[in-house]
Amino acid sequence: MKKNIPVTKSVMPSFNEYSKEIRNLWDNRWLTNMGIKHNKLIKKLKKFFDTDNVDLVVNGHNALELAIEVLELKGEVITTPFTFVSTINAISRKGLTPVFCDIDEETCTIDVNKIEELITKKTCAIMPVHVYGNVCDVDAIKKIAKKYNLKVIYDAAHAFGVEYKGKNIVNYGDISCMSFHATKAFHTIEGGCIISKNPKHIKKINTLKDFGIVDEERINAKGTNAKMNEFCAAMGLCNLKHFNENIRKRKQICDRYRKLLNNINGLKMLPIQKNIKSNYAYFPIFIDKKKFGMDRNELKNKLDNKGIYTRKYFYPAINDIAIYKNKKYRTPIAHKLSKQVLALPLYPELSLKNVDYICNNIASYKRKKK
Ligand SMILES: *Cc1c(COP(=O)(O)O)cnc(C)c1O
Repeated sequence: MKKNIPVTKSVMPSFNEYSKEIRNLWDNRWLTNMGIKHNKLIKKLKKFFDTDNVDLVVNGHNALELAIEVLELKGEVITTPFTFVSTINAISRKGLTPVFCDIDEETCTIDVNKIEELITKKTCAIMPVHVYGNVCDVDAIKKIAKKYNLKVIYDAAHAFGVEYKGKNIVNYGDISCMSFHATKAFHTIEGGCIISKNPKHIKKINTLKDFGIVDEERINAKGTNAKMNEFCAAMGLCNLKHFNENIRKRKQICDRYRKLLNNINGLKMLPIQKNIKSNYAYFPIFIDKKKFGMDRNELKNKLDNKGIYTRKYFYPAINDIAIYKNKKYRTPIAHKLSKQVLALPLYPELSLKNVDYICNNIASYKRKKK
Protein backbone atom coordinates (compact mmCIF):
# COMPACT_ATOMS: atom_id res chain seq x y z
CA MET A 1 0.00 0.00 0.00
CA LYS A 2 1.31 3.44 -0.95
CA LYS A 3 1.97 5.68 2.01
CA ASN A 4 0.97 9.31 2.18
CA ILE A 5 3.54 11.20 4.20
CA PRO A 6 3.32 14.97 3.66
CA VAL A 7 6.41 17.16 4.00
CA THR A 8 4.69 19.09 6.77
CA LYS A 9 1.47 19.04 8.70
CA SER A 10 0.28 22.05 10.68
CA VAL A 11 0.31 21.64 14.42
CA MET A 12 -3.15 22.05 15.92
CA PRO A 13 -4.60 22.01 19.41
CA SER A 14 -7.55 19.69 20.01
CA PHE A 15 -10.83 20.94 18.58
CA ASN A 16 -12.11 21.28 22.13
CA GLU A 17 -9.22 23.38 23.27
CA TYR A 18 -9.55 25.81 20.36
CA SER A 19 -13.37 25.96 20.71
CA LYS A 20 -13.01 26.97 24.33
CA GLU A 21 -10.48 29.65 23.43
CA ILE A 22 -12.74 31.25 20.82
CA ARG A 23 -16.06 30.75 22.67
CA ASN A 24 -16.34 34.27 24.06
CA LEU A 25 -15.78 35.86 20.63
CA TRP A 26 -19.46 34.99 20.05
CA ASP A 27 -20.38 37.10 23.07
CA ASN A 28 -18.20 40.16 22.60
CA ARG A 29 -18.21 40.18 18.75
CA TRP A 30 -14.77 41.74 18.78
CA LEU A 31 -13.14 39.82 15.94
CA THR A 32 -10.14 41.94 15.04
CA ASN A 33 -8.48 45.32 15.73
CA MET A 34 -6.33 44.57 18.76
CA GLY A 35 -8.87 42.52 20.71
CA ILE A 36 -8.50 40.48 23.87
CA LYS A 37 -6.79 37.47 22.24
CA HIS A 38 -4.39 39.69 20.29
CA ASN A 39 -3.36 41.54 23.43
CA LYS A 40 -3.09 38.37 25.48
CA LEU A 41 -0.84 36.75 22.87
CA ILE A 42 1.42 39.81 22.83
CA LYS A 43 1.69 39.58 26.61
CA LYS A 44 2.68 35.91 26.39
CA LEU A 45 5.21 36.61 23.64
CA LYS A 46 6.80 39.41 25.65
CA LYS A 47 7.43 36.89 28.37
CA PHE A 48 8.60 34.26 25.87
CA PHE A 49 11.13 36.61 24.24
CA ASP A 50 11.90 38.38 27.50
CA THR A 51 11.41 41.85 26.01
CA ASP A 52 8.68 44.50 26.07
CA ASN A 53 9.22 45.46 22.45
CA VAL A 54 6.99 43.06 20.54
CA ASP A 55 4.13 43.61 18.13
CA LEU A 56 1.92 41.12 16.31
CA VAL A 57 1.16 41.42 12.62
CA VAL A 58 -0.89 39.67 9.98
CA ASN A 59 2.01 37.63 8.54
CA GLY A 60 5.78 37.34 8.37
CA HIS A 61 6.05 39.12 5.05
CA ASN A 62 4.37 42.25 6.37
CA ALA A 63 6.65 42.07 9.41
CA LEU A 64 9.63 42.41 7.05
CA GLU A 65 8.07 45.27 5.09
CA LEU A 66 7.13 47.14 8.27
CA ALA A 67 10.61 46.64 9.70
CA ILE A 68 12.14 48.24 6.60
CA GLU A 69 9.60 51.05 6.77
CA VAL A 70 10.11 51.84 10.43
CA LEU A 71 13.90 52.01 9.97
CA GLU A 72 13.34 54.38 7.03
CA LEU A 73 15.84 52.50 4.87
CA LYS A 74 16.93 53.68 1.45
CA GLY A 75 19.45 52.21 -0.99
CA GLU A 76 20.99 48.73 -0.96
CA VAL A 77 20.34 45.89 1.44
CA ILE A 78 22.76 42.97 1.67
CA THR A 79 20.99 39.63 1.96
CA THR A 80 21.26 36.09 0.58
CA PRO A 81 19.54 34.35 -2.33
CA PHE A 82 19.12 31.13 -0.30
CA THR A 83 15.82 32.11 1.30
CA PHE A 84 12.09 32.18 0.76
CA VAL A 85 11.24 34.74 -1.91
CA SER A 86 9.43 36.87 0.69
CA THR A 87 12.74 38.24 2.05
CA ILE A 88 13.75 39.62 -1.34
CA ASN A 89 10.23 40.74 -2.27
CA ALA A 90 10.05 42.77 0.94
CA ILE A 91 13.33 44.57 0.13
CA SER A 92 12.33 45.17 -3.47
CA ARG A 93 8.71 46.17 -2.80
CA LYS A 94 9.95 48.83 -0.37
CA GLY A 95 11.99 50.42 -3.15
CA LEU A 96 15.35 49.05 -2.04
CA THR A 97 17.89 47.06 -4.02
CA PRO A 98 18.71 43.54 -2.84
CA VAL A 99 22.43 42.76 -2.96
CA PHE A 100 23.12 39.04 -2.95
CA CYS A 101 25.80 37.68 -0.66
CA ASP A 102 26.76 34.01 -0.77
CA ILE A 103 26.05 31.60 2.08
CA ASP A 104 28.11 29.48 4.39
CA GLU A 105 27.99 25.82 3.41
CA GLU A 106 27.67 24.50 6.99
CA THR A 107 24.73 26.65 8.13
CA CYS A 108 23.19 27.96 4.87
CA THR A 109 23.19 31.43 6.47
CA ILE A 110 25.01 34.52 5.15
CA ASP A 111 28.79 34.07 4.73
CA VAL A 112 30.11 36.84 6.96
CA ASN A 113 33.48 36.80 5.19
CA LYS A 114 31.82 37.97 1.98
CA ILE A 115 29.71 40.83 3.35
CA GLU A 116 32.31 43.61 3.48
CA GLU A 117 33.27 43.39 -0.19
CA LEU A 118 29.61 44.08 -1.08
CA ILE A 119 29.30 47.25 0.98
CA THR A 120 29.02 50.46 -1.06
CA LYS A 121 28.08 54.07 -0.30
CA LYS A 122 24.46 53.09 -0.88
CA THR A 123 24.37 50.18 1.57
CA CYS A 124 21.95 50.88 4.42
CA ALA A 125 21.34 47.50 6.02
CA ILE A 126 22.04 43.79 6.22
CA MET A 127 19.09 41.41 6.18
CA PRO A 128 20.36 37.94 7.07
CA VAL A 129 18.10 34.90 7.39
CA HIS A 130 18.27 32.32 10.19
CA VAL A 131 17.75 29.56 7.60
CA TYR A 132 16.14 26.35 8.96
CA GLY A 133 16.46 27.89 12.43
CA ASN A 134 20.27 27.84 12.09
CA VAL A 135 21.63 30.94 13.75
CA CYS A 136 23.59 33.40 11.59
CA ASP A 137 27.03 34.44 12.81
CA VAL A 138 25.38 37.18 14.86
CA ASP A 139 28.61 38.31 16.54
CA ALA A 140 30.44 38.91 13.25
CA ILE A 141 27.39 40.61 11.72
CA LYS A 142 27.16 42.93 14.72
CA LYS A 143 30.81 43.94 14.28
CA ILE A 144 30.41 44.66 10.56
CA ALA A 145 27.19 46.62 11.15
CA LYS A 146 28.89 48.73 13.79
CA LYS A 147 31.97 49.37 11.66
CA TYR A 148 29.95 50.58 8.65
CA ASN A 149 26.98 52.02 10.55
CA LEU A 150 24.43 49.64 9.01
CA LYS A 151 21.09 48.47 10.36
CA VAL A 152 20.45 44.74 10.82
CA ILE A 153 17.05 43.14 10.28
CA TYR A 154 16.97 39.40 10.88
CA ASP A 155 14.50 37.35 8.91
CA ALA A 156 13.79 34.99 11.78
CA ALA A 157 10.80 33.33 10.12
CA HIS A 158 12.31 29.88 10.78
CA ALA A 159 13.69 30.59 14.20
CA PHE A 160 10.88 30.83 16.76
CA GLY A 161 12.20 29.63 20.11
CA VAL A 162 15.83 29.35 19.01
CA GLU A 163 18.44 30.43 21.55
CA TYR A 164 22.10 31.31 21.14
CA LYS A 165 24.37 31.18 24.21
CA GLY A 166 21.29 30.98 26.42
CA LYS A 167 19.60 34.05 24.93
CA ASN A 168 16.69 34.14 22.50
CA ILE A 169 17.96 35.05 19.02
CA VAL A 170 15.68 38.11 18.91
CA ASN A 171 18.25 39.78 21.13
CA TYR A 172 20.49 40.24 18.09
CA GLY A 173 20.18 42.90 15.40
CA ASP A 174 18.02 46.02 15.40
CA ILE A 175 14.86 44.13 14.51
CA SER A 176 13.85 40.48 14.15
CA CYS A 177 10.85 39.38 12.11
CA MET A 178 9.03 36.12 12.74
CA SER A 179 6.50 34.26 10.64
CA PHE A 180 3.63 32.42 12.31
CA HIS A 181 2.44 30.83 9.08
CA ALA A 182 0.64 27.49 9.36
CA THR A 183 3.73 25.56 8.23
CA LYS A 184 6.12 27.09 10.75
CA ALA A 185 7.18 25.45 14.03
CA PHE A 186 4.89 27.84 15.93
CA HIS A 187 1.91 29.26 14.10
CA THR A 188 -1.25 31.35 14.29
CA ILE A 189 -2.65 30.07 10.92
CA GLU A 190 -1.36 33.26 9.27
CA GLY A 191 0.63 35.66 11.38
CA GLY A 192 3.91 37.14 12.35
CA CYS A 193 5.63 39.38 14.84
CA ILE A 194 8.26 42.06 15.07
CA ILE A 195 10.75 42.38 17.90
CA SER A 196 12.86 45.52 18.15
CA LYS A 197 15.60 46.85 20.41
CA ASN A 198 13.90 50.22 20.22
CA PRO A 199 10.47 50.78 21.86
CA LYS A 200 9.84 53.69 19.47
CA HIS A 201 9.85 51.27 16.53
CA ILE A 202 7.15 49.18 18.15
CA LYS A 203 5.05 52.23 18.93
CA LYS A 204 5.29 53.28 15.28
CA ILE A 205 4.41 49.78 14.05
CA ASN A 206 1.35 49.83 16.34
CA THR A 207 -0.07 52.59 14.16
CA LEU A 208 1.48 51.62 10.80
CA LYS A 209 -0.22 48.22 10.96
CA ASP A 210 -3.57 50.01 11.46
CA PHE A 211 -3.57 52.49 8.54
CA GLY A 212 -1.54 55.01 10.54
CA ILE A 213 -4.46 55.66 12.87
CA VAL A 214 -3.37 56.99 16.27
CA ASP A 215 -6.79 57.63 17.78
CA GLU A 216 -10.30 58.64 16.74
CA GLU A 217 -9.19 61.90 15.21
CA ARG A 218 -5.52 61.54 14.37
CA ILE A 219 -3.81 59.75 11.49
CA ASN A 220 -0.07 60.32 11.46
CA ALA A 221 1.34 58.02 8.77
CA LYS A 222 0.52 56.38 5.44
CA GLY A 223 -0.05 53.07 7.14
CA THR A 224 -1.20 49.73 5.84
CA ASN A 225 -3.50 47.03 7.20
CA ALA A 226 -1.42 44.37 8.90
CA LYS A 227 -3.44 43.55 12.00
CA MET A 228 -3.77 40.04 13.38
CA ASN A 229 -7.36 38.91 13.90
CA GLU A 230 -8.73 37.26 17.04
CA PHE A 231 -9.13 33.75 15.59
CA CYS A 232 -5.48 33.69 14.59
CA ALA A 233 -4.36 35.04 17.96
CA ALA A 234 -6.51 32.38 19.68
CA MET A 235 -4.77 29.66 17.65
CA GLY A 236 -1.46 31.12 18.80
CA LEU A 237 -2.53 31.08 22.46
CA CYS A 238 -3.36 27.37 22.15
CA ASN A 239 -0.26 26.42 20.16
CA LEU A 240 2.07 28.27 22.50
CA LYS A 241 1.00 25.97 25.34
CA HIS A 242 2.17 22.93 23.37
CA PHE A 243 5.29 24.47 21.84
CA ASN A 244 7.89 22.82 24.09
CA GLU A 245 6.23 19.43 23.80
CA ASN A 246 6.19 19.77 20.00
CA ILE A 247 9.87 20.73 19.91
CA ARG A 248 10.67 17.61 21.93
CA LYS A 249 8.88 15.47 19.35
CA ARG A 250 10.64 17.26 16.49
CA LYS A 251 13.99 16.62 18.16
CA GLN A 252 13.27 12.90 18.43
CA ILE A 253 12.49 12.78 14.72
CA CYS A 254 15.62 14.74 13.77
CA ASP A 255 17.80 12.53 15.99
CA ARG A 256 16.38 9.48 14.23
CA TYR A 257 17.02 10.96 10.78
CA ARG A 258 20.61 11.75 11.78
CA LYS A 259 21.20 8.24 13.06
CA LEU A 260 19.73 6.43 10.06
CA LEU A 261 21.09 8.71 7.33
CA ASN A 262 24.58 8.86 8.75
CA ASN A 263 27.36 7.55 6.53
CA ILE A 264 25.45 7.44 3.28
CA ASN A 265 27.95 8.44 0.64
CA GLY A 266 26.78 11.53 -1.26
CA LEU A 267 24.14 12.50 1.31
CA LYS A 268 25.02 15.43 3.55
CA MET A 269 23.21 16.69 6.61
CA LEU A 270 23.94 20.06 8.23
CA PRO A 271 26.18 19.84 11.30
CA ILE A 272 24.61 20.57 14.69
CA GLN A 273 25.48 24.14 15.69
CA LYS A 274 27.37 24.83 18.91
CA ASN A 275 25.87 26.95 21.73
CA ILE A 276 22.43 26.74 20.12
CA LYS A 277 19.10 25.60 21.46
CA SER A 278 17.41 24.50 18.24
CA ASN A 279 13.72 24.43 17.34
CA TYR A 280 14.19 21.53 14.89
CA ALA A 281 12.04 23.33 12.35
CA TYR A 282 13.33 21.62 9.17
CA PHE A 283 15.41 18.62 8.17
CA PRO A 284 17.22 19.34 4.90
CA ILE A 285 19.54 16.84 3.21
CA PHE A 286 21.92 17.61 0.34
CA ILE A 287 22.48 15.17 -2.50
CA ASP A 288 25.77 15.01 -4.39
CA LYS A 289 24.83 13.40 -7.68
CA LYS A 290 28.23 11.85 -8.42
CA LYS A 291 28.63 10.17 -5.05
CA PHE A 292 24.99 9.31 -4.40
CA GLY A 293 24.35 7.93 -7.87
CA MET A 294 21.32 10.07 -8.69
CA ASP A 295 20.55 13.75 -8.41
CA ARG A 296 18.19 15.52 -6.02
CA ASN A 297 15.33 15.68 -8.55
CA GLU A 298 15.51 11.96 -9.27
CA LEU A 299 15.52 11.16 -5.56
CA LYS A 300 12.51 13.44 -5.06
CA ASN A 301 10.58 11.70 -7.84
CA LYS A 302 11.37 8.28 -6.42
CA LEU A 303 10.17 9.34 -2.98
CA ASP A 304 7.04 10.95 -4.52
CA ASN A 305 6.21 7.57 -6.05
CA LYS A 306 6.41 5.99 -2.61
CA GLY A 307 4.05 8.59 -1.15
CA ILE A 308 6.90 10.35 0.67
CA TYR A 309 6.53 14.06 -0.11
CA THR A 310 9.58 16.29 0.18
CA ARG A 311 10.27 19.88 -0.78
CA LYS A 312 13.06 21.62 -2.68
CA TYR A 313 13.46 24.20 0.04
CA PHE A 314 15.03 26.50 -1.17
CA TYR A 315 15.02 26.18 -4.93
CA PRO A 316 15.66 28.06 -7.09
CA ALA A 317 18.14 30.44 -5.50
CA ILE A 318 16.39 33.82 -5.76
CA ASN A 319 19.09 35.37 -7.97
CA ASP A 320 18.50 32.54 -10.45
CA ILE A 321 14.88 33.54 -11.10
CA ALA A 322 14.13 35.96 -13.92
CA ILE A 323 12.74 38.90 -11.93
CA TYR A 324 15.83 39.00 -9.68
CA LYS A 325 18.45 37.70 -12.09
CA ASN A 326 21.67 39.50 -11.34
CA LYS A 327 25.01 38.43 -12.73
CA LYS A 328 26.88 41.05 -10.73
CA TYR A 329 26.76 39.09 -7.51
CA ARG A 330 28.19 35.60 -7.72
CA THR A 331 26.85 33.15 -5.17
CA PRO A 332 28.20 29.72 -6.16
CA ILE A 333 27.47 28.02 -2.82
CA ALA A 334 23.83 29.14 -2.75
CA HIS A 335 23.50 28.10 -6.38
CA LYS A 336 24.98 24.66 -5.73
CA LEU A 337 23.06 23.94 -2.52
CA SER A 338 19.73 25.02 -4.04
CA LYS A 339 20.22 22.24 -6.60
CA GLN A 340 21.14 19.65 -3.96
CA VAL A 341 18.70 20.38 -1.19
CA LEU A 342 15.68 18.34 -0.22
CA ALA A 343 13.70 19.03 2.95
CA LEU A 344 12.40 15.76 4.41
CA PRO A 345 9.01 15.34 6.10
CA LEU A 346 9.04 16.82 9.60
CA TYR A 347 6.16 17.59 11.95
CA PRO A 348 5.48 16.53 15.54
CA GLU A 349 2.92 13.88 14.56
CA LEU A 350 5.32 12.08 12.19
CA SER A 351 5.84 8.59 13.61
CA LEU A 352 9.34 7.19 14.06
CA LYS A 353 8.13 4.17 12.10
CA ASN A 354 7.52 6.43 9.12
CA VAL A 355 10.91 8.08 9.63
CA ASP A 356 12.44 4.60 9.40
CA TYR A 357 10.45 3.96 6.24
CA ILE A 358 11.67 7.22 4.67
CA CYS A 359 15.31 6.52 5.59
CA ASN A 360 15.20 2.91 4.41
CA ASN A 361 13.91 4.05 1.05
CA ILE A 362 16.59 6.72 0.67
CA ALA A 363 19.33 4.27 1.67
CA SER A 364 18.06 1.61 -0.73
CA TYR A 365 18.29 3.93 -3.74
CA LYS A 366 21.89 4.61 -2.91
CA ARG A 367 22.74 0.90 -2.77
CA LYS A 368 20.90 0.02 -5.98
CA LYS A 369 22.75 2.61 -8.00
CA LYS A 370 26.20 1.37 -7.09
C1 LIG B 1 7.65 31.92 5.81
C2 LIG B 1 8.74 32.85 5.51
C3 LIG B 1 8.51 34.22 5.29
C4 LIG B 1 7.14 34.81 5.11
O1 LIG B 1 6.29 34.61 6.18
P1 LIG B 1 4.70 34.60 5.94
O2 LIG B 1 4.18 34.51 7.34
O3 LIG B 1 4.38 33.40 5.12
O4 LIG B 1 4.32 35.86 5.28
C5 LIG B 1 9.61 35.05 5.14
N1 LIG B 1 10.85 34.58 5.16
C6 LIG B 1 11.12 33.27 5.33
C7 LIG B 1 12.54 32.80 5.38
C8 LIG B 1 10.07 32.36 5.50
O5 LIG B 1 10.33 31.06 5.63
